[in-house]
Amino acid sequence: MARLSLLIRCQACGHEFDTGIRMDRRNFARATFASNYHTCPRCGRRGTYHKEDFRVQEEGSPNSPGAGRGEQ
Ligand SMILES: [Zn+2]
Repeated sequence: MARLSLLIRCQACGHEFDTGIRMDRRNFARATFASNYHTCPRCGRRGTYHKEDFRVQEEGSPNSPGAGRGEQ
């Protein structure tokens, strides 16, 4: 099963960055992500993010247009 990279968009500056979290699609579907703190590498803003804030991207397929989009 392909592993997913979890990305989020900074609440302050809108910069999208990789959270470093890796998991497969099944685990992502089960995960709750009640509250996760992430710090934006661009502006340094630390924010709390929830599951709906994550964008998932399949690892190893960076050239697939739209990979992971619209699968909420
Ligand atoms: Zn930021």
